[in-house]
Order: sequence, then C-alpha cells, then structure tokens
Amino acid sequence: MPAIPVRNPRSGQFDYEIIPPSQEELKFLCQGLRAGQKSWQSQGIEQRIEALQAWKTEILAKHDDLVKALTLDTGRKAESILEVELLATSIERWCGLARDFFAEKVHKKSAIPFIEIHQELSPFGLVGVISPWNFPLLLSIIDAIPALLAGSAVVVKPSEITPRFIAVIQASIDAVPELAKVFSYLEGAGETGSHLLGEVDLVCFTGSVATGKKVYAACAERFIPCFLELGGKDPALVFEGADLERAATAILWGSVVNCGHSCLSIERVYVQANVFEAFLKLISEKAQAIKLAYPGVDDGQIGPVISDRQVAIIDEHLKDALEQGATLHTGDTACQPLGGGWYCRPTVLSNVAQGAKIIQEETFGPIIPIIPFEDEAEAIALANGTQFGLSAAVFAKTWEEAERIGQHIEAGAISINDCALTAIVHEGEKQSFKFSGIGGTRMGPSAIKRFMRQKAFIVNKAGVRDPWWF
Ligand code: NAD
Repeated sequence: MPAIPVRNPRSGQFDYEIIPPSQEELKFLCQGLRAGQKSWQSQGIEQRIEALQAWKTEILAKHDDLVKALTLDTGRKAESILEVELLATSIERWCGLARDFFAEKVHKKSAIPFIEIHQELSPFGLVGVISPWNFPLLLSIIDAIPALLAGSAVVVKPSEITPRFIAVIQASIDAVPELAKVFSYLEGAGETGSHLLGEVDLVCFTGSVATGKKVYAACAERFIPCFLELGGKDPALVFEGADLERAATAILWGSVVNCGHSCLSIERVYVQANVFEAFLKLISEKAQAIKLAYPGVDDGQIGPVISDRQVAIIDEHLKDALEQGATLHTGDTACQPLGGGWYCRPTVLSNVAQGAKIIQEETFGPIIPIIPFEDEAEAIALANGTQFGLSAAVFAKTWEEAERIGQHIEAGAISINDCALTAIVHEGEKQSFKFSGIGGTRMGPSAIKRFMRQKAFIVNKAGVRDPWWF
C-alpha cells in the first residue's frame, strides 16, 4: 500500500508517514492474533492481569517517549501527559474490576426442581478497535483493555491523522511477549479500517456519525456486534439561582479544553433570560483570558486545531452564524494561521439562531454560542433539539433541581452543577441517545460484558426420566 503523509499540526509540515498493511498482511496479522487468543482465554484472569500489569510497567518506562510522540501528533502537551497517565490508571482500575467480575460464578435453579443452570461467559475471539484523532492514545485503549481482560484478542487501528504514538505503544506491547500474541496496533486510514471490519468478530468504533453509519452497515452485513461512540453537540443549561461564577468557569473549560476537540465538549449554552447578560459578561471575560499555546507548546492553554480538515468545518460554522446575525464577543471570525498551524481562540457568540449550523452540527472547536430561554420547558426543548444525544450539563440552584431537570434531557450522561465529567469520571454507566451512538456502556464495570456472550449450561443433575419425553 502507498505511504500516507502525516501533517504536523504546529508546523503544517508533512514530516512523518505511515505505511498501511496490504489486505493480505492485515489478514495474516489477524489470523496470528486469533491463534493466540485460545490460550489467552484458557490461561485465566490472573495470568491476563499479570500480562497487563507487565505492560503498565513498560508504558511507565516509555512515559516520556509516549508524551513526546503524542505531543507531535496533536500539538498540545498537557492533554498528552493526561492521556498517558489515564492509560496507566485505566489498566489498574480494569484489573481490579475484572478480577471481581470473574470471581462471580452464577449457578441457579431453574423452574424445574432437578435442573440447574450454570451461567458462563464466552469471549469474542478477535475485537477490532477503530479510533479517532482527538485523544489518540486514550480512545485507542479505552475498549481494548476490558476486551483483553475478557479474554479476547484485540487489534487497534488509530486515526491516520495522529499516528506517531503507534510505534511507541507497539514497542511497549512487544516487550510483553504474552500480550504481543493477542494485541497489536495497525497503521492506516479509512481503507484499512474498512478492511479490518471484514476480519474481526466485534467492532468498537469511535468517530464521526458519517463513518459510524458505514461501519454499522458493514457489521450488519457480517452479523457481528458493533459498538458505536459517535459525535455530540452537548448542551449546558444554566438556570437562575445557579452559581454563575462556577457555571461560567466550568462551561468555559468544558467547551475549550483540548481546543474543543472532544465528543463531550459543551458546544451550545442555554441561559435563563434574567441571568443571561450577567453570564455572558462573565464567560466572555474568562474566555478572553485564555491564551493560545503559541509559539511554544508550553505557552498557553489552547493548542492548534489538530486536523486541518476541521479548520474548514469550524470556519463554515462561524461564517454561517455571523451571516445569520450572531454577535461575536471574544475570539475571531475564523481560525488563524500561525507558524504553519491553525489556531482558534475561545470564541463567545450570542444572538445565534437555534437552526444555525453552529447549533445543529458538531463543530469540534472552542466555540461557545449562547442562547437565552424563558422557562424550563423551553430550555429542555432547545437542549433536545438536535440529532445528537451524547451528554449534557445542568446548572441550577441545587443539585436536586438540576438532576430533576436532567431527567428530561435526551442524553446518556448528565453532569450536574459541573461540566463534561465523563472526561474524568469513567465509572458511570451510560449509553448514547440518538445519532451519538449505539450499544452497551463503555464506562463502568459492566462495560466488560460487551466482549462476552452469555452461555448457559442446563444441567440435569437427577438423571431421572424427563416427564416430557416420548
Ligand atoms: P472519523 O469518522 O473521520 O474517523 C474515525 C476512524 O475511522 C479513523 O481511524 C478513520 O481512519 C476510520 N475510518 C474512516 N473511514 C472508515 C471506514 N469506511 N471504515 C472503517 N474505518 C474508517 O472521525 P474523526 O474525525 O477521526 O474523529 C472525530 C469524531 O469522533 C467526532 O465526531 C467526535 O465527536 C467523535 N468522537 C466520539 C467519541 C465518543 O466517545 N462518542 C469520542 C471521541 C471522538
């Protein structure tokens, strides 16, 4: 396969390349992983935990190399450090959860006195993970770790936009021979991802709605399970009586951290009319104080727009909003070229129409459009008025009131008097609503069940003649 050039988000130079495997090479790799899976499964949970703990040691030894590669991939540093740290804590957390999970043996009586049921779980052989560029490391391992602990082999294809970390993480896997037999990363773009769908037994896909639809259709054709974690347009609702200072600080972080490149970014804010002006002033002042991480990677808080394809989308949404009469309070009317990269300052807008692209489509940039509402019913209707349903945030006078309002929001995770908490807290079990995805929760202890089929042994212990036989 021809090499794919990779752009550096800070310099704009194409200074790296990846060489995707041919279809035959991909098939060969998958056959090898599948062959290794049988003994991985049969050796039991304690051996699997031991291998993952050894991998964690290798990751920590390569901490600086991983951070360096991720920083080159994404142009931002603090989030790269966080990704590596979350990988180590995620292995630790999952090892504990999986041990508890496998300790539970379910033997139960049936309705027929002499027949017992022994429940078992049988892992899928080979799990395929396809991941995006916004948190390249974290989103490539979030499903891989529980799948490995479940007893599956795993092959991961990260995004072609941020692939420099792959060589480092693969070296850390190769340093643990037991793990390397069942776990591998792949370089490649959409074509490789699409070939992978033909080789695996279950797919975990994180990416856009448009690609998710193609992945879902390909999995349906093969009758294999598919877990889709797709885009979002998360709303934050601010009611009178809420602590406005707290709400503005939290919403700013939830909207602009990682340059707004998070599925769970706050992408639209609805504020009760009688506190609207005060909130707008507060958040605009706070947004103004946020600095670009330019010229040096350590200089400010907001790195470059990672994918140059995203620049066109952010600019189009801004242009559409401004043409429809939006007012710009801070930020620019488009992304700015600096040193070869593209940067977008935190941008606050008001007078935005609910039908504008910046309210209806995923922008994936640090833009904060703010719309007033009169009462609770209007706020809920506005919040539910898109095709997305990933997560949301509600700020009210008390957490009880915010939680009550959150019951009406069509989304899987609602942060109460806070924002974007699923970025930090991975214990809450949640599923996506509408086009934000489909399938079981990827967070919380039950996420491991996605990689196993239930199997029932129905045991006749009495050995007597069944009354229903001829
Ligand atoms: P994308 O859909 O363009 O690509 C995602 C992955 O799919 C990449 O690895 C790509 O190479 C691969 N791919 C492309 N075409 C394919 C095909 N036909 N078959 C199989 N694989 C294919 O998404 P992106 O631009 O990389 O990522 C941004 C999107 O991801 C945003 O919409 C964001 O909201 C979403 N996202 C969702 C979550 C979540 O948990 N819900 C988390 C992070 C990002």
